[in-house]
Amino acid sequence: MLDLIVTGGIAVTPSGAEPADIGVARGKIAAIGQSLARDNAKRILDAKDRLVLPGGIDVHTHLDMPFGGTTSADDFETGTRAAAFGGTTTLIDFAIQYKGQSLRTAFDTWMQKASAKATADYAFHCIITDLPQARLDEMDELVREGVPSFKLFMAYPGVFMLDDATIFKAMRRASKVGGMICMHAENGGAIDVIVQQALAEGKTAPKYHALTRPTTAEAEATSRAIALAEMAGSPVYIVHLSCNDALEKVREARDRGLPVYAETCPQYLYLSLEDMDKPGFEGAKYVFTPPLREKWHQEKLWNGLKQDHLQVVSTDHCPFCFKEQKEMGKDDFTKIPNGGPGIEHRMSLIYSGGVAKGRFSVNRFVELVSTTPAKIFGLYPRKGTIAIGSDADLVIFDADREQTISAATHHMRVDYSMFEGIKVKGIPDVVLSRGRVLVEGDQFHGKAGQGSFLKRATYSGA
Ligand SMILES: [Zn+2]
Repeated sequence: MLDLIVTGGIAVTPSGAEPADIGVARGKIAAIGQSLARDNAKRILDAKDRLVLPGGIDVHTHLDMPFGGTTSADDFETGTRAAAFGGTTTLIDFAIQYKGQSLRTAFDTWMQKASAKATADYAFHCIITDLPQARLDEMDELVREGVPSFKLFMAYPGVFMLDDATIFKAMRRASKVGGMICMHAENGGAIDVIVQQALAEGKTAPKYHALTRPTTAEAEATSRAIALAEMAGSPVYIVHLSCNDALEKVREARDRGLPVYAETCPQYLYLSLEDMDKPGFEGAKYVFTPPLREKWHQEKLWNGLKQDHLQVVSTDHCPFCFKEQKEMGKDDFTKIPNGGPGIEHRMSLIYSGGVAKGRFSVNRFVELVSTTPAKIFGLYPRKGTIAIGSDADLVIFDADREQTISAATHHMRVDYSMFEGIKVKGIPDVVLSRGRVLVEGDQFHGKAGQGSFLKRATYSGA
């Protein structure tokens, strides 16, 4: 007996796009076939003329995160809900270890934020800000608990930034126990000097956030992260890569066969420095790190996605409302909370710019937004594919439907959209998480607390 059958759609994986019925039982994919017996199922979901995709996986989100005296505007309920409307059914968020705390405390704190609220499945990376010798063992413990990835910062001196020795130690430890290091790669020391000089010269408008963080600072740190990982014998994953200079470093390393991976985000593919020149304080809507770059970088990044120099698209969703939150930096760009909202529109933006515009195939699209994230971060084959035994996280996706993105209609709990007015083609119609219908058209059927923590496996290649 099947709980439901998704009938008549084109099932897409990295290796194929075939007409198939997909049968679901107890939250898992139980049957895949040409015409499954319908009288056998409690419910039929018609996917005729549409694609059926594995649920999207966003490996970089910041829900309910304290930053600069405020907290990101989406919590685990509103964030997973908005994600689901966009076809994303799994998130990997970041549990932050503050100085002096154990890594365990970070994990426990974020589990508390998520467990009663998440409407879809979630996992965590652990952000390490403080790693004396005595704490290194805690990394092993976290890996055993299903948190096998650690994010380190080469930026934000005095807050998150770690020195090279600490980064190197963490990489060596991670490589021993099957962990993965995720790196925020920007040279925070140099950036800080440039920022202080700008402020001293009275340059306080939002655009100076971008103008004080050169692409060279990102490229240098990317290159240093790769070198440290090479010496440590560990894989490394560069988060939110924003510019061609850094992309070149990743490409060179991969050409040498090193286990180096990188993600970019829709904002770097669709927005540019010009958006920061909008009148008044509007530019604050685009204050996130790394910053927006000159427009020509966009095509380089799209090409990087096509050529597999970049392997993943995540969002770095970190929403702050324009009113009251972004406004904290009205007179000083360094006080604008860093981050932008994007969790809802990743799949449509990447389908639209990637597949509909002819830059890459629908198979490559699925690889970038679901399959490779699952493989790199220990969720595959439970997530990231359409196969018997995998979780029934499925998206019935209308490749022809168009929509104009707007804060007036989005589901994120934030008062503006970074992508306001952008027209996308390719919209999720129905979204399933472990066989439960979360989204059907404009209706949400999920419930807070329904999502599960995903204990992830160690890194074993991608
Ligand atoms: Zn981030």
